[in-house]
Amino acid sequence: MSNLGKAVLAWDEFLQRDDYRERLDQLRQWFRASGRTSLMDQGDAATEQLVEALSETALQVGSEGMPLGYKSYPDWVRLGVLGTIARWGAGEGTTCRHAPSIARPRPVVSAAWKPDLVVCTACLHLLELPHSSAANHTCDGCGYVVPNTEILYSFTISHGWLMWQAGACADCRFWTP
Ligand SMILES: [Zn+2]
Ligand SMILES: [Zn+2]
Repeated sequence: MSNLGKAVLAWDEFLQRDDYRERLDQLRQWFRASGRTSLMDQGDAATEQLVEALSETALQVGSEGMPLGYKSYPDWVRLGVLGTIARWGAGEGTTCRHAPSIARPRPVVSAAWKPDLVVCTACLHLLELPHSSAANHTCDGCGYVVPNTEILYSFTISHGWLMWQAGACADCRFWTP
């Protein structure tokens, strides 16, 4: 696993702690001092923004912002969101031509099916999949290709200024509509 992947797992584990707020400053110091990740190669401003972004636990489902605790999200959602933010912040992913940067907070969008792409709100078409493709009917949680007789539940998670889109089959849906 890459250093970035390890950092995301460590961060995820941390956010699930009940005392994470008290320990946050400690973790920030560790993160800055560790030099374990390529995040440290970025400018201080970007690193600071990334720490802020990853520290935000208020994941919300859908436009109504359904309040679910961080721990109630399944692994594939938590790690999907954190991983996207981490790769984006480390400059390992790609963006739309407007080059949204984690050091310049503004709304950006990504999707589970294109985990290395972050786009601005004017470039949502870059995240679209061909309508009739199998990929467009695949559950991002388990990989099940949902047939037309069943429902693929599309949802959006907001995390700070990042919106993350995904689809879940009935078995992988983690919220009550
Ligand atoms: Zn754009
Ligand atoms: Zn599924």
